[in-house]
Amino acid sequence: MTFTERRCCECGEGTIKLLTKAGRRRAYKQFAALEVPAELAIPTCDHCGAEWYNDEHADAFDAAVAALHGRLLAEAQEDPSRVAKHPVRLRWSVEDAAWIAEVPSLPGCMADGRTEAEALEAAHKAIATWIEVANER
Ligand SMILES: [Zn+2]
Repeated sequence: MTFTERRCCECGEGTIKLLTKAGRRRAYKQFAALEVPAELAIPTCDHCGAEWYNDEHADAFDAAVAALHGRLLAEAQEDPSRVAKHPVRLRWSVEDAAWIAEVPSLPGCMADGRTEAEALEAAHKAIATWIEVANER
């Protein structure tokens, strides 16, 4: 991976440097905010914190999260008859300090967890419960 430090176009003051950092998140496919692996270096402004992905880094990101994404997808496909029909939207909530899993196709169906996988698993249980309750009506 080649990288040249340069001035940040966002703030015009900082310098773009390759940074590794824990706790970064980024939208990926149907996931609203996947955790970026801490060891993945991403060009980041040392002044305003803007992240500058180019194709090379986007590829590295894709490769780094592909395994996680694959695992989440595999879990989502455990029971295709009911779970795959209901996409789960994951987002990090600063307020709750937890991952919030929302199921837009099922009103009021939500779950949370400390990790994406945990939130997704909880969402699957919530989906199952939601459908069971709906069927009883
Ligand atoms: Zn900047």
